[in-house]
Amino acid sequence: MAEVPGTNHWFTHFTSRIEEAELEEWWALNFNYNLRNELDAQRRAKGWKIYVTSTFAKFICRRCSNSWSSYRASMVFHYRLRRKSGIVLLRLFQQQCRECKNPIMHKPQVNSDQMYEVLDRLILKILKNCYRVPNLVEEGRAVNHRKTKPHESNLCEACGLGMCNQS
Ligand SMILES: [Zn+2]
Ligand SMILES: [Zn+2]
Repeated sequence: MAEVPGTNHWFTHFTSRIEEAELEEWWALNFNYNLRNELDAQRRAKGWKIYVTSTFAKFICRRCSNSWSSYRASMVFHYRLRRKSGIVLLRLFQQQCRECKNPIMHKPQVNSDQMYEVLDRLILKILKNCYRVPNLVEEGRAVNHRKTKPHESNLCEACGLGMCNQS
């Protein structure tokens, strides 16, 4: 699979936020492109939790170099804490290019600020659901919708799977 610029930043940004959180256990992030936006009973029983969200991202078509922005770059995290370590799995949903209509999907490129915002929300969930630390800040996130084209469900992988973040 072609290297998508920016994907590695998820690892470095996650690691720096986890270090700052000073948790007892070490947490690791991995990508998993089979995740669904719900947990079945089996995963639930194993202690998995879920966080579905979306953020602002850019997409660049590798075929025709068209680029676009979206506020509905959907993603899903599955996470769980075991005895000595925590694991976070992340699936980034992709989008298709409207210009060339090539069926290949493109991964979102999320800038550092947006990525930290997403990871901070995730870590609040981890603190609450795995460490029983009540969230001190209100969860409402600052949504300042810059102008982007309306979400095109037919070009969105998450929509196609019925997994797009609606909030
Ligand atoms: Zn294209
Ligand atoms: Zn969608």
